[in-house]
Amino acid sequence: MRIHSQALRQIARHAAAEYPAECCGLLVGRGDEVRTASAVRNLLGGERCDRFELDPVEHVRVWEAAHASGEDIVGCYHSHPDGQAQPSSIDRRLARGFGGPFGYLVVAIDGQSGDLEVFSGQIQEDGEIVPVPLEIIESADGADGGSPSAGAEDSAATA
Ligand SMILES: [Zn+2]
Repeated sequence: MRIHSQALRQIARHAAAEYPAECCGLLVGRGDEVRTASAVRNLLGGERCDRFELDPVEHVRVWEAAHASGEDIVGCYHSHPDGQAQPSSIDRRLARGFGGPFGYLVVAIDGQSGDLEVFSGQIQEDGEIVPVPLEIIESADGADGGSPSAGAEDSAATA
């Protein structure tokens, strides 16, 4: 999975804001490339159990916005407050309902240090979550407030 650094920062902020509750959201982009992360209300939020359920109304809104800009929902993410950066057994069971291939990020957040650890995986067609390498794309545009990059942008990354 390739993820733009701004999307990763959105996820980190969301996980920290919801701590000690578990946050969840959707990954928007194309193919295996995640350009943005959209926070979605966790219907089970507030309880400190290892469980999340995406609000279906917000899920549809994210889908509509993604399609309006020619993108798609390519994965989901959720946090493990003071937990492990890997899918729990409940996660693995619930992943079967998503229908792969679908990106799957788990962000473990340490409440004391604020440290984050990321698990990057993909739900296969059979519903299994397998680990995949995470490649971070430094985004030149938006959200950073950085100076405009002078470098030429690669136009054709091989898919
Ligand atoms: Zn989980």
